[in-house]
Amino acid sequence: DGVALARENIMGSLQDFRLIYGELLDEAEKRPRKAVIMPDLQAYRIFRERFITESDDKKYIGSVPGIHVGDIFHLRVELCVVGLHRPHRVSVDHIKQEDGTCIAVSVVSYAQSSDVKNNLDVLVYSGSVAAIGNQKIEGTNLALKKSMDTNTPVRVIHGFITNINGNCQRTYIYGGLYIIEKYWREKERENCYVYMFRLRRMAGQNHIDIKEILNSGQGESSGGIVIKDLSRGLERIPVSVVNSISDEYPMPYRYISRLQYPRNFHPAPPEGCGCVGGCSDSKRCACAVKNGGEIPFNDKGCIIVAKPLVYECGPSCKCPPTCHNRVGQHGIKFRMQVFKTKSMGWGVRTLDFIPSGSFVCEYIGEVLDDEEAQKRTTDEYLFAIGHNYYDAVLWAGLSRSIPSLQKGPDKDEEAGFAVDASKMGNFAKFINHSCTPNLYAQNVLYDHDDKNVPRIMFFACEDIPPHQELAYHYNYTIDQVYDVNGNLKKKKCLCGSTECDGWLY
Ligand code: SAM
Repeated sequence: DGVALARENIMGSLQDFRLIYGELLDEAEKRPRKAVIMPDLQAYRIFRERFITESDDKKYIGSVPGIHVGDIFHLRVELCVVGLHRPHRVSVDHIKQEDGTCIAVSVVSYAQSSDVKNNLDVLVYSGSVAAIGNQKIEGTNLALKKSMDTNTPVRVIHGFITNINGNCQRTYIYGGLYIIEKYWREKERENCYVYMFRLRRMAGQNHIDIKEILNSGQGESSGGIVIKDLSRGLERIPVSVVNSISDEYPMPYRYISRLQYPRNFHPAPPEGCGCVGGCSDSKRCACAVKNGGEIPFNDKGCIIVAKPLVYECGPSCKCPPTCHNRVGQHGIKFRMQVFKTKSMGWGVRTLDFIPSGSFVCEYIGEVLDDEEAQKRTTDEYLFAIGHNYYDAVLWAGLSRSIPSLQKGPDKDEEAGFAVDASKMGNFAKFINHSCTPNLYAQNVLYDHDDKNVPRIMFFACEDIPPHQELAYHYNYTIDQVYDVNGNLKKKKCLCGSTECDGWLY
């Protein structure tokens, strides 16, 4: 879990930085006469002012927690943001040690993409040129030698320059840890030397196919894929983004894969079950009892019937992670793709067949109380939660079979919450509305007991073939949606279903 958290934090920082950088570029585009000089460095300065204090600055020897071999970056300064390589001009990063000597910890090594040999296990790196007449090894060359002498692993970031439609594009790929095996001096010109270092990739690290990474990045060759993985490794399976309609990218936002609760939200942990060997006895399992005396999923992980609330087993339970009453908490199982629709902006489709009843994804974002939610300037990505227990059709009958729900949350004390995915969220924010949906939103609890703040998990309500758009019913009441000034808002529904009601709200 610590590893996943480190990844989430580091990718969150990167996305924060990219948002700032994107805003600066947008501004520059709007005001062409007011040049933004070195927007990457400006964005980095703003990012540090907003998010980083001196004490956050970490100097890593060896791998950086949360960074995987094969991670891709598009600006040199992004390497500073994640702590892979701190100087944004110099190609060797070093750390001063207690005895005053310096060891090299990372190297950015450049190649033209046309020169790429796929085997980057051995690398010859040319260090800095020694000053004319100087016989001594010093500066970053000395730091590299010191790493060689002490067998210190050095992070290698492969920098590539590709030419896309006449534009020079740089890509940085984290190649992993290398050991410096050897160094030598070559004569550059009379009395002037360059130091060369031979680095060998350490064994036991994931293989990376540089050519594949470079080719998969952009453009036609990858079927219009504009982003290979929107989640940048936060989902179990990459979430690609394609646009075959325009050259637009989704508005940048911070990708997160866990709900962000308010600081003061500390609900009591639920009473877990004690089924050490698994939850096989529905009469004894405390979670099955909370679900009305049954595990709500079949052995394929499909939900048996929609309920006002489903209790999955969770961290307070004694059962193992493989327990079949743990479904949504394990994350996505099917390949998802965000794509540009013809008339509804971005949408989400599945690349795999999804059997009816399967868990598809959770609606992730910031959890806000109603008061906070009202203050948000855009309501486009707000999902109101904890209210639909009162949905007359769903509630009738079902609550009778579930003891813990017989009373339900007290309506007078009902605290309204919403999940807002506008600034941070996962890909579910792009799922559109349909009047004949293939998903439904299921309230689920597993890591706390507050029925006002259930998780929103989407399950397939029919078999969904590959490449079909995913959609749920937004459940707006027509003529009941108002803007911040209290004016009635209306929007035509463009779902295209033969049974379309005509209006989204
Ligand atoms: N399409 C959105 C986007 O590009 O970011 C993603 C869905 S977002 C949660 C909700 C917004 O998508 C709505 O406010 C509306 O603008 C649009 N939308 C979703 N379903 C729609 C539908 N059936 N008809 C018209 N617009 C729709």
